[in-house]
Amino acid sequence: MLKGQNTTRTKQLNQSLVLKLLLQNGPMSRQQISEITDLTPATITYISAELIEQGLVMEKGDLQNTKPRAGRKSVALDLNGDSYWVLGINTSMEKLKMGLVNLKGMITDVQSIPVPSKFNTEEFLSFLAKQIKMYLQAHPEVKVSGVGIGALGAVDLEKGKLLGNDRLGWPDVDLISYLQKEITVPIFLDNNVSAMTLAEKMFGNSKQFTDFMCIYLGHRIGAGLVLKNELYRNGRTGAGEFGHMTYMPEGRTCWCGNKGCLNQYASEEAILNELQATNVDEVLQRAVDGEVQTINTLEKAAECISIVLSSFINMVNLKKVVLCGTLSSFLLPVADIIRKEVNQRPYLARIDHIEIESSKLGDNIEVIGAGGLALWYGLYQKSQC
Ligand SMILES: [Zn+2]
Repeated sequence: MLKGQNTTRTKQLNQSLVLKLLLQNGPMSRQQISEITDLTPATITYISAELIEQGLVMEKGDLQNTKPRAGRKSVALDLNGDSYWVLGINTSMEKLKMGLVNLKGMITDVQSIPVPSKFNTEEFLSFLAKQIKMYLQAHPEVKVSGVGIGALGAVDLEKGKLLGNDRLGWPDVDLISYLQKEITVPIFLDNNVSAMTLAEKMFGNSKQFTDFMCIYLGHRIGAGLVLKNELYRNGRTGAGEFGHMTYMPEGRTCWCGNKGCLNQYASEEAILNELQATNVDEVLQRAVDGEVQTINTLEKAAECISIVLSSFINMVNLKKVVLCGTLSSFLLPVADIIRKEVNQRPYLARIDHIEIESSKLGDNIEVIGAGGLALWYGLYQKSQC
């Protein structure tokens, strides 16, 4: 019995290993996989046959730029993107953004649904469950294998709860238990910025980076960290409240109870207040039109972020920072100023250049990240949970 369990677990671990290698590196030959994993060619042949049978992997012609072995061509194995789909949902106070995400992080049919204001927790949960069911019913042609939810605020990862939100006046919300009564496929929950960081690691330009930081510059500011190739977690709720790091001691009072938090000076919310603008599209237009007050406000916000980020980089010695969220748009001066400032300020940046770029996943990173939770914990990492 024990032997059987061990064999099954070993098989799952080996399958997971091959899937993650193909995700990270793209098409590979069986020989290359064998060399990297130290598994025998016979084992790789067996595992890949199983994954092909399951439809998750496919043969994709001859591999480019490799030497044929003993006259045999090297056949490439690749993930079969459309073989596995999940539903990704990003929740905020204003809207639900949801879409289908496939095995390779391709996204389709993104919908943005306004959330009525002043919902209590029961009303919100009921609304969320209803929207998920309606979305799934509208896509009967797609087999959805899981649902990932990236939520604003702190999350109890072990219990699948949204933790009490002083701002909304909400208590802890037992989100997974509630939804799982109505939705049959597995549901995965995490903080939305952690989910975006995972998306950057799985599908973005940072696949090959073992240590990097992802900063979300949106309604509020948050961050996620990948350290030693893993999404960094600590304590019950993870980590990443970058927006509540202190920029100005004795500065503006933050809703978190502290004073001078970065959120109060450099978040989208702070900038909208400063410029008396109604939404970020208006700020974007004013910046594109070259309005001086808008440009100055955005530049000042970027400097605030750079000061706090520089201190953090001195401590952790990161080589890459990825920016995402509305304020990271290439149409705004924010990313350029952070890139310049951060490569001048920290002591460690003067030793090694720090790569800073906006995520290539663009606006979709929120939904891809949420879907990424269901892909990572429901498939790629399944056997190790
Ligand atoms: Zn704060």
